[in-house]
Amino acid sequence: MTTRRSFLRWSTLAVSLSPVRSLFALPKAAAVKPIVVSTWDSGLAVNAVAWKVLKPGGYALDAVEESAKSIEKEISCCVGLGGNPDREGHVTLDACIMNEKYDCGSVAGLERILHPISVARKVMETTPHVMLIGEGAQQFAVANGFKLEEDKLSADAEKSYKEWLKKSEYKPLMNIEQQQGKTPKRAAGGPFAPNQFEDGSFNHDTMGTVAMDAKGRLSGSCTTSGMAFKMRGRIGDSPIIGAGLYVDGEVGAATSSGQGEEVIRLGGTHLVVEFMRNGATPMEACKKAVERLVKINPKKAKDFQVGFIAINLQGEVGAYSVNKGFSYAVTKADDGGKVFMAESYYK
Ligand code: ASP
Repeated sequence: MTTRRSFLRWSTLAVSLSPVRSLFALPKAAAVKPIVVSTWDSGLAVNAVAWKVLKPGGYALDAVEESAKSIEKEISCCVGLGGNPDREGHVTLDACIMNEKYDCGSVAGLERILHPISVARKVMETTPHVMLIGEGAQQFAVANGFKLEEDKLSADAEKSYKEWLKKSEYKPLMNIEQQQGKTPKRAAGGPFAPNQFEDGSFNHDTMGTVAMDAKGRLSGSCTTSGMAFKMRGRIGDSPIIGAGLYVDGEVGAATSSGQGEEVIRLGGTHLVVEFMRNGATPMEACKKAVERLVKINPKKAKDFQVGFIAINLQGEVGAYSVNKGFSYAVTKADDGGKVFMAESYYK
């Protein structure tokens, strides 16, 4: 039986042994940093832009803003002003940004502004708010020196929109690799080739990026033109903190792409980060979040795509999607970056 005296004796001994024990403690593996991870194949080129900031010791927040800007100015079906419009023919942009101190900013339904991610950062840094939408967001952007661009569709978007108007059916085709045996154009295209199928049916994408800089500071950005031919006024997950993006400086960061309604319902990226807080690796956390998504959508999940990517403070990376076909790019240690295909719930 442990008497009070024997307990004291043992505890004194334990305290006196602790320096000896720490001599034998396994050293903690050094964190992999800087590191940047982005959604989809196009994430590789985006990471390269972030790397230019991260490599010389720059701030992760600057890195994820610059990387988002690099794709916003490309003509792509799914991000920036070159994106597909809503069903009334307007391109409306959603974006958000967050740093390691829970500072965050967001814009939704923003029209005719080239860099929604920079407007989101301005919201974060200069207003008492987190999120501005529509006309108000545009007014704020213009008042802060952002140029009001011409109200015009890109040639690709105009073509897709005209094609879509023939039937006017809202039937987004998700990035599911085996989707009815159709070949995504991107398979043959460059890094920013539109994710549209050869037969003209459309697809969607969001550029989500999470990064940790050399000082261990985390940040993330998320930018998109949203679901093609969505209802006027529809907002997806991408500008919603905790849905399309979440960063917790004490734990890790996560972002998503795919059917925004499903990610919002789940509180997706906040959930991924909370799983990590409770001990899951980024890979386990993304998988658990996808499993939860499938559980609450037992009938529909086979027909939509959602993918999560995440990193933690150790620089470990995770990704997981509902269906096959979700790719992501990882760049670290000046390795030039690599694209991976995420594991998925449905094989
Ligand atoms: N998540 C985006 C949205 O729902 C679309 C996408 O990632 O493709 O607007």
